[in-house]
Amino acid sequence: MQELGALLALALRNLELYEAMSLANRALQESSEFKDDLLAMLAHDFKGPLTVILGYCELLMETTTESREEIETVYSQTNRLVRLSDDALVLAQTQAEGFSLARTTVDLGSFVAECVEATAPNNPRLSVEIAPEQIVVDLDPHRFRHVIDNLVSNALKYSTDAVHVRVRPVEDRVTIEVVDRGIGIPKAELANLFTRFGRASNARDKGIAGSGIGLYVARKIIEVHGGSIAVESRENEGSTFVVTLPRLSGQS
Ligand code: ADP
Repeated sequence: MQELGALLALALRNLELYEAMSLANRALQESSEFKDDLLAMLAHDFKGPLTVILGYCELLMETTTESREEIETVYSQTNRLVRLSDDALVLAQTQAEGFSLARTTVDLGSFVAECVEATAPNNPRLSVEIAPEQIVVDLDPHRFRHVIDNLVSNALKYSTDAVHVRVRPVEDRVTIEVVDRGIGIPKAELANLFTRFGRASNARDKGIAGSGIGLYVARKIIEVHGGSIAVESRENEGSTFVVTLPRLSGQS
């Protein structure tokens, strides 16, 4: 009888603990959802004013000859903020359940060429090589533009030399390679770059600004498309980021 009483007390205590844990869990989930919503809202609302600043900078760059360097600095720094808010928005969306895609059939070669040009218009450091045959993929253009933009901006940021972008078919898949001859990445840190806030020590040591969310967000977007991303790199020699995507069935 005494044993039964002790067991009952234990069961009641377990029930209390379970309820306390469920409450704490719910509070945590609510605060995490609140954080994601806040991040999404801030990222979204930041973009409006930043786009206005970019528009005025473009106007000034076309019409003014004075203070050109200063205007260009404001322009490129504002562009950085736009990229950061884009990353933060996608980051918040990837944390929420049901990260959805609006897929459409796309000619990957011309799509990539267009994204590269939009990231850095008329940049003499950039070249794009597209396989002659048409490569059709099923992707969400809005989200995927973000991936190309991140990889090309990184290649330009972490190198001072030429950057080459290549699109070619490999059996039933297609690869997009972004090649630079920049600072490279220490071997031991390669895998860490695709995690949230992952940055390489050499980028930090050189004082190159960054948030470490771009590649994480890029990986998430690529993975929901059924693809993958990898990097080959040698420190002080350069890096090649390779995105692999499935081609639309029926072509190879
Ligand atoms: P950010 O550049 O804003 O820090 P990313 O997530 O885009 O964020 O990149 C993560 C890290 O990967 C960078 O901080 C840098 O250390 C490294 N990295 C990315 N691209 C390159 C590159 N092309 N060359 C050298 N290092 C790179």
